[in-house]
Amino acid sequence: ATPAATMVGTTIGAQNGVLFKGGDILERAKDVDTVVFDKTGTLTEGEMELTDVVVFDGRTPRADGGDAAPDGGQLTERERLDEDDVLRFAAIAESGSEHPLARAIVDGAEARGIEVGSPESFENVPGHGIRATVDGGEVLVGNRKLLRENGVDPEPAAETMERLESEGKTAMLVAYEGDLAGVVADADTVKESAKSAVSQLRERGVDVMMLTGDNERTARAVAEEVGIDPENVRAEVLPADKSDAVEAIQDEGRKAMMVGDGVNDAPALAVAYVGTAIGSGTDVAIEAADVTLMRDDPVDVVKAIRISDATLQKIK
Ligand code: ADP
Ligand code: MG
Repeated sequence: ATPAATMVGTTIGAQNGVLFKGGDILERAKDVDTVVFDKTGTLTEGEMELTDVVVFDGRTPRADGGDAAPDGGQLTERERLDEDDVLRFAAIAESGSEHPLARAIVDGAEARGIEVGSPESFENVPGHGIRATVDGGEVLVGNRKLLRENGVDPEPAAETMERLESEGKTAMLVAYEGDLAGVVADADTVKESAKSAVSQLRERGVDVMMLTGDNERTARAVAEEVGIDPENVRAEVLPADKSDAVEAIQDEGRKAMMVGDGVNDAPALAVAYVGTAIGSGTDVAIEAADVTLMRDDPVDVVKAIRISDATLQKIK
């Protein structure tokens, strides 16, 4: 493109809240054939809310009768956990975490009048959850892998987890002192324009994919809601593996635009053919990106590609 055309494209972009980090990026965007969206905070609002608390009694799921102790004896009323106990353990364990999932649990507990103190110790396990000490006992809050790696069998909660996940919720297991204690779930809202962004991209012949650390079932439920094919979902991708996932997609010969908002996404934004940071994204993401979308709107991804297209066609 001529410097004048580049100037016009960049200006039109800026007027539409689409910031290109230079003329070469403006030229590149039109060649994107695959858009890879991060899920949380990009396709969804990223504002989680606590929706469910399910008790597993620390021993036996309530649904199965509920009061059998591991040795076959009866649990006393005092030993038996209730919803507030499960939520309290989870909230105290999560109180030191910045993760949106954690904040929703803490807020949800406080809204129920639970006093959320600080854990005696606390360890963040990235992509898995939290390990903490509460009331002198070890509390785990996180996914199946976190529990398994810490010697707790998540199997008794399988059905509950699957039910919540197929509703698009992120379900987290809670263990106390080596026993499964319950499940808590957070839900996020899909952004209003996400569906229209996906359909407009597909109309242009651009493939749309989703990349997330969240589990497969939740990811697919959200994908279905916004119109992304199930086979285009890459779920359970650890933060450190997101850039490898984008590279793998590009190794198929695709020109990928990665769209993300979080610190997690920065390496993936950096390796993508075009890295796009969205809206309220973190400084780290914006730094790593080639394009910044000032508004929180996935439809602006389509705008970015259109502006690139229009700018370069005009001067041909
Ligand atoms: P995302 O890519 O959606 O931001 P992460 O990579 O941060 O997800 O986390 C992946 C999964 O690990 C989550 O879906 C959740 O099951 C679990 N997890 C991560 N952090 C926490 C936490 N603080 N509390 C509970 N579970 C967590
Ligand atoms: Mg995110």
